[in-house]
Amino acid sequence: MMTFVADAWPGVHDMLWRACDPHLYALAGFEGYHPSCNENFRIAAARMGWNIQEVPDPVDWFQNTPVEGDDLQLGSGRGPTNAGDHVILRAEIDLNVIATACAFDVRGSKINGDRCTGIRLEVSDTPFAPEGN
Ligand SMILES: [Zn+2]
Repeated sequence: MMTFVADAWPGVHDMLWRACDPHLYALAGFEGYHPSCNENFRIAAARMGWNIQEVPDPVDWFQNTPVEGDDLQLGSGRGPTNAGDHVILRAEIDLNVIATACAFDVRGSKINGDRCTGIRLEVSDTPFAPEGN
């Protein structure tokens, strides 16, 4: 459905962690309501008239969550992202895309670094041309 055209950052991306949800925040010791990618996805899907049963596993862009130890647990490492780091994807078919900036800010977690920040999405119907072309 999409082609991964460019990856302009020195780190890794994650495809192992599920979208964060209230249960994950409770396990992490957070008390009370906390926004989550799972909820954000469900809200966005409902607005598009998409009645989903399960939130699909996300691609966690810029998230450094390595598999660690003999028991192969998912860890969390600080990602060396900087403003302007980006990925470029090309849609090969018409599709709907839902993106959420993860709000996982549980104290002690390295996911999202020291603070959560916004993301910028750009959608263009102009074919991508790498710089210099
Ligand atoms: Zn999240």
